[in-house]
Amino acid sequence: MDNLKGAKRIVVKVGTSTLTYETGKANIRRIRKLVEVLSDLKNSGMQIVLVTSGAIGIGVGKLGLSAKPKDTPGRQAAATVGQCELMFMYDKLFAEFGHITGQLLVTKLDFENEERKNNLSNSFNKLFEYGAVPVVNENDAVAVDEIVFGDNDNLSAIVANLINADGLIILSDIDGLFSGNPKTDDNAVLIPVVEKITEEIETLAGGAGSNRGTGGMITKIHAAKVAGSAGIPTAIINGSNPEDIYRLIEGRQTGTFFRPESREE
Ligand code: GLU
Repeated sequence: MDNLKGAKRIVVKVGTSTLTYETGKANIRRIRKLVEVLSDLKNSGMQIVLVTSGAIGIGVGKLGLSAKPKDTPGRQAAATVGQCELMFMYDKLFAEFGHITGQLLVTKLDFENEERKNNLSNSFNKLFEYGAVPVVNENDAVAVDEIVFGDNDNLSAIVANLINADGLIILSDIDGLFSGNPKTDDNAVLIPVVEKITEEIETLAGGAGSNRGTGGMITKIHAAKVAGSAGIPTAIINGSNPEDIYRLIEGRQTGTFFRPESREE
């Protein structure tokens, strides 16, 4: 299977570049479309978890700062402001389509400590039971140094694993994984299916430390690896048109699909 056809429980991860304009302000049109698609999928009987970034970015815009603060407390403060704005928008938009959201702000520690992990899992299960949409972000106000995930790609894979999702969809600012850097190489083509995440695939994604301008592809590949080793398939697609999520669920080729390792019982 090269798509997520038939998936019942999915995690959708959306990042700052999909959610905001270059001005730092929210891309309302896109956020609205994303919420509309997710609400519709929910109506069809699916269970959706939204892992969202954008708190710092939107906070910077809302506070009228000229750039993302360089210091950690500055970014944390911006995140607390932006998170309110984000949740306000999600809550309002999902409500327009008759759905309820619940906010979960987590840190790495919450997944490493058995008791916290269980509590978190119980919260997710109850939200599913209530029919609400769990909306997850890192708790940036407290997550510094060793308790930080660093990026929400990783967080989305860990959440997918915790809730035993049928699939992880990562919305990116490019169409998927390419055979080269599409911004500089005209011969670069989209790779539709990755059977196994090898070193070669990781190199294509830009490798640690290099800057190939593929928009954070490496952290997405790592997330696909984490999800895949738990038997969960990942699709990386372009987030600019949220309706493309339908294509995946309908079984049509979209973006790059990462085949998971077979689930071990
Ligand atoms: N948690 C951060 C935010 O919402 C973003 C983390 C990431 O870059 O994925 O702004």
